[in-house]
Amino acid sequence: MKFSQMPYARPEFEETNAKLVSLLKKFKEAASADECFAAFKEFDEYFEQVDSMFTIARIRHTLDTTDEFYDKEKDYMDEVYPELEEVSQDFTQALLDSPFRKDMEAKWGALMFVNAEIERKTFRPEIVPDLQKENKLSSEYSKLIASGRIEFDGKVLTLEEMGPYYEDPDRAVRKAATEAMSAWFMEHAQKFDSLFDDLVKTRTAIAKKLGHETFTQVGYYRMQRNCYDKEMVEKFREGVVKYIVPITQRLIEEQAKRIGVGAGKMMIYDTDFMFPDGNAKPVGTPDDIFAHGKKLYHELSPETAEFIDFMLENDLFDVLTRPGKAAGGYCDSIPLHKSPFVFANFNGTSGDIDVLTHEVGHAFADYLARDTYPSDLRSYPMETAEVHSMSMEFLTWNWMEGFFGEQTKKYYYSHLANALIFIPYGTMVDEFQHHIYEKPEMGAKERNDLWLELERKYRPWLDMGGVPFYEEGRRWQDQGHIYEDPFYYIDYCLAQIVALSFWAQSRKDHGAAWAKYRRFVGFAGTKTFVDLVKDSDLPSPFVSDNLKIVADAAVEWLDKQ
Ligand code: ZN
Repeated sequence: MKFSQMPYARPEFEETNAKLVSLLKKFKEAASADECFAAFKEFDEYFEQVDSMFTIARIRHTLDTTDEFYDKEKDYMDEVYPELEEVSQDFTQALLDSPFRKDMEAKWGALMFVNAEIERKTFRPEIVPDLQKENKLSSEYSKLIASGRIEFDGKVLTLEEMGPYYEDPDRAVRKAATEAMSAWFMEHAQKFDSLFDDLVKTRTAIAKKLGHETFTQVGYYRMQRNCYDKEMVEKFREGVVKYIVPITQRLIEEQAKRIGVGAGKMMIYDTDFMFPDGNAKPVGTPDDIFAHGKKLYHELSPETAEFIDFMLENDLFDVLTRPGKAAGGYCDSIPLHKSPFVFANFNGTSGDIDVLTHEVGHAFADYLARDTYPSDLRSYPMETAEVHSMSMEFLTWNWMEGFFGEQTKKYYYSHLANALIFIPYGTMVDEFQHHIYEKPEMGAKERNDLWLELERKYRPWLDMGGVPFYEEGRRWQDQGHIYEDPFYYIDYCLAQIVALSFWAQSRKDHGAAWAKYRRFVGFAGTKTFVDLVKDSDLPSPFVSDNLKIVADAAVEWLDKQ
């Protein structure tokens, strides 16, 4: 079914809740393992229907944030979703307490129950009002970002549409664009501060009601961290500082020389500009890009061929930028129609190709898992999901010429270098949040100072170039995850290490790397991230020496270019 034809009807709270309560009752009253399986299925399927409606509304809202109908649906959903949480959590509890738990574990595996235990720790009925407030604040942030309009180059542009100017070959243009963006953020600085302040307070209140001193552990539970903890993340951080930061520093120095700004003279507005004659840009129109994307997935494997045809035939991509469309890019899934959906904002940079590789990596994984049952095993924590997407970016390298033509070599270089350069930034975003939630009483200035301190630890080469947004330590306010999805970020860094090892293997033997990847993705949510990495014989990111091995392989390749 085409996305536009998927019917939407608001799941009214009273009716939905009553139905779920009755299905829960049936599950609790099951008198045999078979009855238990059947009742489980009924609940699971009904909940998926409801979830699919919410997903459709959420997607349509991001396609046009000014559409009043879906704006109202989104608001309704923000109100209702937390209220449904109670029956959903009761179901989770009933699952854990079920006299047939052993039978279910034998049928579906124990991980589902480990995850259920974790989920139980994120909820108590008394936090519902706080969850509603949190949703509302997080929606306000996303609306504020989407409302951003910047007068530049004789046009009125969205924040997304400013993207290409940050990598303009003319340094004066890059600087002016960065300053224009900064001015918009500074104009709304107080709002960004107060929204975040409220979010931190709300989340801390939630944590306290759940019996925790701070929000950190709740954040971990929400991210369904079932195989690593804060201490392991600290180990990863140590590896980043020890091995990745120095390598990145060297790559940045080379970049400074290459683009002619001179060593030690890299300004914040130079970082996106990698080559003196400009960064690699996709050649051709969005239609050309999609035509080549189709060819790529047809050649990669029979399964990816079937998948890409399904996506294209059902209009499951929306990639062109329009005013009012939400910022960013994502892949979501509508279980009822077994359909992934890819959302993006094309802006003429190489980021457009990431949509066809990164987001498509997510979509392919969702597509492969579409019949996995129960639905719990169909979903996976974000670090696993990001391995799917980031590795796909590398496993499609052989087809990049069709997107970049003569600029392909530049694309390879910046893709790989940026993968490394990203890791310290991502780790900083994560460490920032740990400090924030450990000390929730921090004021706006203290938070910004903390950010600047972390900049010096992870990106010591960076000169803020007198741009107020950066000089004041406000860069994090443009990082949506910090507002909307706390503690979702280290996932990218962990996944990048795994993706880089898929890259290294694919350089030697693409067929073997693809087979390993296909196997990894095929497990969907049936194994933890740590187990997936171990079972696939991939280097664990929690061992700091592995970071050195992975990064050295990439640097060796970069040095030869
Ligand atoms: Zn992703």
